[in-house]
Amino acid sequence: MKSLNLSFNIVLNFIYRYPLFLMILFVSAILIYGLNLILSVKNREIKLKLEETTKDITSVWQAVTSAHAETMQSYFMHYVMNPKTLKILKRANSKDEREQNLARAELFKHLWYDYKYLRDHQIVRQFHFHLPNNRSFLRFHAPTSYGDDLTPYRPTVVLTNKLKKPHLGFETGRVITGYRYVYPIIDKEGNHLGSVEISRPFEILRKALKNIYQKKEFLLIIREEDVLPKLLPEYFKYYIPAQFAKGWVLEDPLGELPDSPQPMEEEYQKVLNAQGENREFLKMLEDSSDGSIVVSYDGKHYIITAIKLRELDKNKPSAILLAITRSEEIDLINEIFKRNSVIFTLLILALSIISYLYTKQTFKIRQKQEELDAITSSMGSGLIVIDKRGIIKFVNEPTLRILGYKKNELIGSVAHYKIHVHESTLEDCPLFKAISMGRHYGSDEVFRKKDGTSVDVHVVSRPLFIHGDHIGAVIVFTDITDRKRMEKELYTLSITDALTTLYNRRFQLEMLKNAKNKADRYGEPFSLLMIDIDNFKSINDNYGHEMGDVVLKKLAEIFLNNIRATDVASRWGGEEFLILLPNTNLDNALLIAERIRRQVEALKIDNLSKITVSIGVTAYNGNENINELISRADMALYEAKTSGKNTVRFLKA
Ligand code: GH3
Ligand code: MG
Ligand code: MG
Repeated sequence: MKSLNLSFNIVLNFIYRYPLFLMILFVSAILIYGLNLILSVKNREIKLKLEETTKDITSVWQAVTSAHAETMQSYFMHYVMNPKTLKILKRANSKDEREQNLARAELFKHLWYDYKYLRDHQIVRQFHFHLPNNRSFLRFHAPTSYGDDLTPYRPTVVLTNKLKKPHLGFETGRVITGYRYVYPIIDKEGNHLGSVEISRPFEILRKALKNIYQKKEFLLIIREEDVLPKLLPEYFKYYIPAQFAKGWVLEDPLGELPDSPQPMEEEYQKVLNAQGENREFLKMLEDSSDGSIVVSYDGKHYIITAIKLRELDKNKPSAILLAITRSEEIDLINEIFKRNSVIFTLLILALSIISYLYTKQTFKIRQKQEELDAITSSMGSGLIVIDKRGIIKFVNEPTLRILGYKKNELIGSVAHYKIHVHESTLEDCPLFKAISMGRHYGSDEVFRKKDGTSVDVHVVSRPLFIHGDHIGAVIVFTDITDRKRMEKELYTLSITDALTTLYNRRFQLEMLKNAKNKADRYGEPFSLLMIDIDNFKSINDNYGHEMGDVVLKKLAEIFLNNIRATDVASRWGGEEFLILLPNTNLDNALLIAERIRRQVEALKIDNLSKITVSIGVTAYNGNENINELISRADMALYEAKTSGKNTVRFLKA
């Protein structure tokens, strides 16, 4: 617990010392986190958009290719699987070369016009018959090239002849690369006569796609290593390396062959050509699956989708159908991202500036408060600030120490009721009056402590003005308990006799004057006893001065024991005492005197011989002065002495 507190303090201290540093750290963290969040939202939106695009194009591509396969099937049935074609093909399988050549010429003649029509209308590009041994029999698109073995180049042909099933798909070739449909040729008797390939130019597929996606451009790129080794030398010139991707070639990009695609829009060409260094783009080309990416060019965004086309015998795609389109949606997503980032950043910065200023202000106030606390707590006096209504607003540490309160027990309460011991109501309290009227005030007051006891204080109050407005008062008070006690002690000392603790002569004279004043005003009687110790000199002489002092103290005790609280016993001189008995007539005074005399006579101190006193008694006559009264008491004492001591004598006025 203690160490927890300690580390908490260390943290607080750190915050207190480096608020700016911490603020920057905190704000940076929020900014990084927030911007990342915004970025990830953007990336997710883009990713979804790209996935959707890829899926869309892939399925359309599949639909287009399978629709075309159906068409090819019907061409196959119509042109190849008719009795005449089959008859010629049967001859083509003859062992006799001459017969074969004749069959080739006949086949060419038989289908040439149909082929020419299909080619000229860009419906079919290649029409290629092969024998069961995979040798080329007749290429309608290159009738003079025949007899070559296709086994190494044309896996579709090999598989079709071997499995006697159609094989469809993309394939590079000796002349031209394309989407091929290869069918086995089997006559009614079940003779396998070879196979035929009908290839559509890519342009047809491109056009079909273009019909669906008017705003997209499509481009076929072919892997150089898959196509170049196969090509017949005269076709090399049609294959040109793609500017944007090493290892890939474009087929007839200049459109020299009749059914080659039109060059794509210049804008898109530029965009593509700019991707030569784009890692993401190059990675997409090498990826085995279909995919889309966003590229930006000239401040605009484009989506490039790559559909991978595989040959039957290869795992790596041999060609890629690239689709490229301008995407305003991605522009918008990016726009929103930028705007959100800027708004978020500005918002956070504004918030942090505000909170920094606020914190700084708070720290400043706290510091000022602490300074004020430190300064005022170094005072010896209590300091209380109150508002005009008398409500405590500030107290210093000594206030808490003197009054025993905690700070929050005082702040907010009305000073008069909480700590001022005063008979009056708030309105009548002179201290509060002075405060509310903006006057200075200073006097001794009594404050109440938390434990209910009270404390004497000296209070000085000054009005408090801020910007000329009277807002309350500052009260400074000092604990004067010690001073009060000392004053009391000094006063007691000044009126008492140190040895006997009886009052001294000066005080007794004051009391006599008071008694006379009272008697004169109310007609009250009062009497005096003047007492002198008999033969006191001999006590000093025989037993020492100290013993004399002891006797004086013992007698003082006897006097005090025989008088009332309102009576005043004093040491009048060395071994002479004067007792004032207010409200007492001569007779009663005599009784008291006699009682004292007897008690003194009975007193035993160690081995001392009997101590006695002589007492002169008299009463105030109503119109004499104090001196006359005292000297009559003296005279009565003198009579007591002269008549043998240890006796009481009185004199009437
Ligand atoms: P008398 O019976 O006539 O009163 O005789 P006395 O000896 O009492 O009177 P005197 O006036 O001759 O002597 C008073 C003596 O009291 C003188 C003085 O030494 C002594 N005395 C006065 N004040 C003190 C005191 O404070 N302490 C002591 N021990 N002796 C005191
Ligand atoms: Mg004497
Ligand atoms: Mg004497």
